[in-house]
Amino acid sequence: MSRRGVLVAGGAGYIGSHTTVELIEAGYEVIVVDNFSNSDASSLEGVAKITGVKPIFVEADCCDKEAMRKVFEEYDFDSVIHFAAFKAVGESVAEPLKYYRNNLLSFVNILELMVEYGRHNVVFSSSATVYGDADVLPVTELTPRKPATSPYGNTKQMSEDILRDMTTATETLNGIALRYFNPIGAHPSAQIGELPRGVPNNLVPYITQTAAGIRECLSIFGGDYPTPDGSCLRDYIDVVDLAKAHVVAINRMVEGRSKSRYEVFNIGTGSPVSVFELVRGFEQANNLKLNYKVAARRAGDVTAVWADTTLANEELGWRAERELCDTLRSAWEWEKNVRRIK
Ligand code: UDP
Repeated sequence: MSRRGVLVAGGAGYIGSHTTVELIEAGYEVIVVDNFSNSDASSLEGVAKITGVKPIFVEADCCDKEAMRKVFEEYDFDSVIHFAAFKAVGESVAEPLKYYRNNLLSFVNILELMVEYGRHNVVFSSSATVYGDADVLPVTELTPRKPATSPYGNTKQMSEDILRDMTTATETLNGIALRYFNPIGAHPSAQIGELPRGVPNNLVPYITQTAAGIRECLSIFGGDYPTPDGSCLRDYIDVVDLAKAHVVAINRMVEGRSKSRYEVFNIGTGSPVSVFELVRGFEQANNLKLNYKVAARRAGDVTAVWADTTLANEELGWRAERELCDTLRSAWEWEKNVRRIK
C-alpha cells in the first residue's frame, strides 16, 4: 500500500478541506470522499487554487459500504482520516438516531474495510466535548471523560472506544484520536473556510455573519459564569494549526513512531479565552464594531475548558502557532470573500 496515499472522509468540510491542503503540501496524495451533506464542491476548488493540485474526489456517503468498498478497491492509500460526521449538538438531542446512524456506521464501515483491505493508520476527529464539565483545568489526555450530555458527544466517546478496541483486537490497525478544542478561522488565502448552513451554532461564524450584516446582533450566552469577566472560557484553535496536527499524526503512524497502537492527543492552544475577549479581539483585529448583547446561558454549555497540550507538544512535535488576532482576521477575510464584501 502507498504510504503517501491518504483517504480523507469528509474532506470537503471545514476541517477536512484545510487538512487536505496541508496533506497535499506535505507531499501526500489525497483521496477525498464526501457526500456534501454539510459542504459543497467549492471547498475542493479552493483546495486546488491554494495547492495547484486537484485532489481525487469520490462523491459517496461513508454509511454506504458498497460505495466505500469501491474506493478501497480502486485507490492506493494506507491511511485514513475520518471527518465525515454530523456535529450539531442541539440537533443530535432532537434526532439522536440520525447521529448514531451516521457518525457510528460511517466509522464502523471504514474500520471494517481497513481491516479487510489491509490498510493500517487511522486518525479520528474527536472533541474536547468528551471531557464535559471537567473538575480540574486544564485537561490532560488522562483527565477522566465525563458522561456525554448529547448524542453528538456520545458518538465521539463511542467512536474513540471503537477505535481503541479495534487496535487491541487486530494486529494491523494503528489509531490516533485527536481531541479538538474550538476550531476557528480560515486559510490565509481566504479560499476555504467555515460555511455553516442556516443560522450558525458556533461563536465565530455567528460573529462574522453579524459583522457582514446577515445577523443583526450576536448574543453572548451568559454573562454570569464564575469566570473573570462572567463569560465562558474556551480554547480557540486555529484551523490551519489544527490541520497540521493531522499531518504530524499521519507521519507518526506511517513512520512507525507511535508509542502504542492507540493514542490520544489534545489539540488546542493551551490558553483560555473568554467570549468577551474573543469578541473584543475580533473587533480589534479587523478594526470594526460588532453589535452584541449579553443573553441567557445556553443549555449544555460548560463554564470553562482548555487544553494541556504537553503531550502533543512533546510527542507529536506540534504546537499551535498562529496568533489569535491573525486567526480572527482570517475568519473575517473568508466571510468577506464569500459574501463579496470589499
Ligand atoms: N457562544 C455565544 N454566542 C453564540 C455562540 C456561542 O456566546 O452565538 C458562546 C458559547 O456559549 C460558548 C462559546 O461561545 O461559551 C463557544 O461556543 P461554540 O458553540 O462555538 O463551541 P462549543 O464550546 O459550544 O463547542
